[in-house]
Order: sequence, then structure tokens, then C-alpha cells
Amino acid sequence: MNKTHQQLDFAQPTTGISAISAFSDNYIWLVSNGSQALVVDPGQAEPVLQVLKQQQLSLTTILLTHHHQDHVGGATELVAQTGAKVWGPASEVLPVCDVALSEGDTFEDATLQLKLSVLDIPGHTSGHIAFFGTFGTTPILFCGDTLFAAGCGRVFEGTPAQMEASLAKLAALPTDSRVYCGHEYTLSNMRWAFEVEPNNVALQRWQEHASEQRRLNQPTLPSSIELELACNPFLRVRQPSIVRAATNWAQRELTTPVEVFAALREWKNNFR
Ligand code: ZN
Ligand code: FE
Repeated sequence: MNKTHQQLDFAQPTTGISAISAFSDNYIWLVSNGSQALVVDPGQAEPVLQVLKQQQLSLTTILLTHHHQDHVGGATELVAQTGAKVWGPASEVLPVCDVALSEGDTFEDATLQLKLSVLDIPGHTSGHIAFFGTFGTTPILFCGDTLFAAGCGRVFEGTPAQMEASLAKLAALPTDSRVYCGHEYTLSNMRWAFEVEPNNVALQRWQEHASEQRRLNQPTLPSSIELELACNPFLRVRQPSIVRAATNWAQRELTTPVEVFAALREWKNNFR
């Protein structure tokens, strides 16, 4: 394979972190060391219980990013079956939660080699949190439904200004951070991203790679902050090409990054 200087490195899967599929396009992220395990956003219990049984893992921890049913729906059953402890956002109503978290709080598990800190990232929901830190020496981010590969979550409870600030906070994390999102939305997000930036070469290359992964029935995740900065219109609201495209679509002058973000979000909501 020829590699040009323009070519971005795609994020490699991390040994020890794997995806459990739920519903039609949710991912429940499983972190394990071969005997103990943690899951992020278990919308369903059944697929998690199956994996625990197959791999003979004991579930010790459940992390929750936000209150939506497709992220918390399996938590109560998993607690009943395994006794796992639940850590989740302090300002949201959750079916079960032992440790209420907000910005600056930390989660550490030496057995699993995990060190995470909590970021408040309101917008999709008003109390949405992310977990950023390291697994071994690898920087990782669990961001629920706020940042998706080449896209972002809908602004259901917060304001566009909150969502834009939350995305900017994630965009400022180390570029080699591996990004574990809550859904497999990558290819459909990319179809829209091409409408915004038809000439984005990094996006073209990433789409080829992601299409191949889907053809092989593999997740397109993790993504990386580097890839998102190069390809995700919602993190590129200060780029002149993006401002121009959003202005053309909105048919009005957009003077701030938040206005550009709000126009992009509206454009994406209306994209089929
Ligand atoms: Zn959600
Ligand atoms: Fe979701």
C-alpha cells in the first residue's frame, strides 16, 4: 500500500475494548482483561449477558453517558444478574446509579488498567457526560451520542450553543484519542458530510476504508480526534469552506461558529 503524506492514519481497534451490538445500530462498549469486565451504555442486557457467559467474564462496572433508553435500558437487569456498580451523570434521571458523576470526577480501575475523567458535554441531553482518559497507555474517549464519526447527536434538550461548546471541548482532546461512539452511523453521516465538503480528500479516503469495514461487517469505530478534525463538519465550523457551505444552505449570513453549527445541524436534520 502506498501511503502519501496526505493520508491519515485510521484508528486501530484497541485490544481489550470491543463492541457489543444492540438494537439496530447501538454499540455497547466492553472493556475487559479476560476475567473482569466493564460496559458503557448497555441499552440491552441480553447481548451483554451472552458475551459475559461466552467469555466467562464477571461484570464489575457499568458506565452511563446519558439517560436515553437505548443507552441505559439494560442496566437494571445487568445489576440484578451481576451486582455491577453503576456510574452515571449526576444531573440526569437514571434507572439505577451508585456513583453520580460530573465534570472533573474520576473513575479508576487498576485491574482493567482504566483511568478516566468525566467531562460535562450538554446538548444532546442536558446532563450528558463523556469519559476521557487512558486504557493502559492508549488515550480513549467514550462520548455516547454527542460526537459520532463524521457527525454528532441531535440537540434534543440543550441549545446549539451548548452542543457546539461540548463538541469543541472534545475536539481539543489529544488528536490520537480513540473515539468510541454510541452508534454505527458513520456511512450515513459521511453521505451528508460530502454534501458539505465534496472535495475533502481525507473524508474520501476514510469513507473508502469505512465502507470496506462495513462490507466485512466490522464496526467503523473507534474513530480518532484526528480523523474527526479532518472530516467532521460539526468540528470544522471555523473552516471557510464549511462556513460558505452552511451559508449557502441557510440562505442567510452566519456570523458566529454557533450559527454555523446550528445551520449545519438543521441541514443534517433535513438530509435524506
Ligand atoms: Zn441518545
Ligand atoms: Fe443513542
